[in-house]
This record gives sequence, structure tokens and C-alpha cells, in this order.
Amino acid sequence: MDLSLRAKIKEFLNVNEDKYPGIKNNVMESFQKILTFENDISTSLNECEVCGEPTSSNVCKACELKREIISPDCEGHIDNK
Ligand SMILES: [Zn+2]
Repeated sequence: MDLSLRAKIKEFLNVNEDKYPGIKNNVMESFQKILTFENDISTSLNECEVCGEPTSSNVCKACELKREIISPDCEGHIDNK
């Protein structure tokens, strides 16, 4: 990870923390998740069984999310947006 990029994000968050309380925690949490996910990929590479993208599990995060959204379990309460 580029250190200057990290510094920029930190600066951005410090500026916006005043306007949006809690944004720093939210963004840092997501950021941390992404970093963890990237580490996962480099240690164990599988192919997503849906789209073929590299993933640490059987299904990549994007397809996992898609599957969650259009899951048959949710059929009863889908909002048609
Ligand atoms: Zn996929």
C-alpha cells in the first residue's frame, strides 16, 4: 500500500470527520476489510465458480453480494427498485 495514499486518505478523513461524525471509523473499517481481502487473495487463490475472478473462497465477493441480493430466500421481500 502506497504510504502517501494512506496519508491522503487520513487527511481526507480528518477534514470530513468534522462534517460527518463517525465517517472515519466507517471508512477505516472498510479500508481494513479491503486490505484483509487483498491479503487473502495473495495467500490462497481460487477461481470464483460464478464469474471466474480470483477469490479467496469459492465465490468472489461481488458474486457473493449479488447472490445475497437475488437470493431465493429473499424472494418474499424483494424491493423492485
Ligand atoms: Zn464472481
